[in-house]
Amino acid sequence: MSQQEGPMTTPHPLAPDWLTPITDSAGLEHKLLPTDAHRTGEGVLSIGGVDVERLAAEHGTPLYVISEADFRARARAFREAFCQAFAPETEVDVFYAGKSFLSTQVVGWVVDEGLCVDTASGGELALALAGGADPARVGLHGNNKSDAEIRRALQAGIGRIIADSLDEVQRIEQLAGELGVTAPVMLRLTPGVHASTHEYIATAHEDQKFGLSLAADVTAETTAETAGSPAERAVALALDSAHIELRGLHCHIGSQIFEPTGFEVAATKLIALLAKIRRDYGVELAELDLGGGHGIAYTEADEPRSPQEIAEALASTVKAACAQHGLSVPRISIEPGRAIVGPAGVTLYRVGVQKDVGVDTPDGDTAVRRYVAVDGGMSDNARGVLYDADYSAVLAGRRVIGEHVLSRVVGKHCESGDIVVRDVYLPAATARGDLLAVPATGAYCHSLSSNYNWLPRPAVVSVSDGVAHTMIRRETEDEMLSRDTGWAR
Ligand SMILES: *Cc1c(COP(=O)(O)O)cnc(C)c1O
Repeated sequence: MSQQEGPMTTPHPLAPDWLTPITDSAGLEHKLLPTDAHRTGEGVLSIGGVDVERLAAEHGTPLYVISEADFRARARAFREAFCQAFAPETEVDVFYAGKSFLSTQVVGWVVDEGLCVDTASGGELALALAGGADPARVGLHGNNKSDAEIRRALQAGIGRIIADSLDEVQRIEQLAGELGVTAPVMLRLTPGVHASTHEYIATAHEDQKFGLSLAADVTAETTAETAGSPAERAVALALDSAHIELRGLHCHIGSQIFEPTGFEVAATKLIALLAKIRRDYGVELAELDLGGGHGIAYTEADEPRSPQEIAEALASTVKAACAQHGLSVPRISIEPGRAIVGPAGVTLYRVGVQKDVGVDTPDGDTAVRRYVAVDGGMSDNARGVLYDADYSAVLAGRRVIGEHVLSRVVGKHCESGDIVVRDVYLPAATARGDLLAVPATGAYCHSLSSNYNWLPRPAVVSVSDGVAHTMIRRETEDEMLSRDTGWAR
């Protein structure tokens, strides 16, 4: 049946405008699931050649499933697209943003595909190194790095520390001096461009905790030491530091960005500063990092750009800006996280209680919204609670073509905001015990997971060529209890 016909294709009065009524989830699956997902002859979803009912039976639910082939293909696509777009002028390093999802196995894939790893804490650094990353191809971020984290990075021989403040430049200088090493440093700047999805906002001053502003410092009385922006003062300080090798400038302008315009504006501003640094100090800094934040499709409404489109837009902007200032094109780096692991991941849940709730519509009628409760929720996917993030869902253990009803997939936590999928059409026949798959959960779901309501954190399983491998095993109640030291008498 075509989607234009029949009563069940009338939009539900409570549905958002972007949500299309369906009688079959094939279109959603094609758009949102990993590239190696398909339906078996029996209608069961299979990912990486492994049937999801088998995964759920062997590993339990909720379960994070990550397609190795999909992850690797996306990592490779970013590296190839950016290397090609910037060739022959310069080379590109792609740093996988480890905070999106990290395990030793994932570090292995990243290294295999020729990517570097970005970390944002001592713990992430430890994990990257445990996974076999070459320390020279690891970066350390963070707006409040401890001395211990900086020391650990320097002792490991890290490839770069991205300094976030003047205070940190001073501490890196001191700690590197104490250790008798030279610290490779990039400066994280806030270029006054904040981007999300389709829009970017350009302001002089960015109201946020990260980075060094490119705008003149309004908080300081102007003296010789405080002249210029915090960014310029950090450049002066770093160039003047005996134990710092200033490698270049960095910016990260937001996340879930679809349009390349924000990246282009930021790159142009940073290149203008590179030109000023050459005028003032006679130094051409070697590197420029344009950050991560590349958007992905969470629902049918999202239309992300391909790595090629982003790379080509950025390469032409960067090359033109460098030519205008008579600079050679610096070595470029980018830091995608979500765009590599997000679409490669799916969360499987078991359906439990369902409720049809009468809800007042804007035009004074009553309509039914179906609440479909699953066996996880905000403890395994906090993005709904944190960002009002939208997701989609499909029935995974069987294929149903026919009537679909407007549904809200909710968790089992003691919060009414515990919503996994705010609006989705699910088969009317969805029943207790059915498996649901929520696509695009590879990034920032396991990373942000918690033990709220004392739920053990789910396992993360990779699938490839018909084989499932437990990357991170399910937490047990005993493990959670073991942190409780008992009551003092
Ligand atoms: C979070 C972050 C990234 C990755 O962002 P994605 O949206 O996952 O691509 C890259 N760089 C920095 C500095 C970040 O903080």
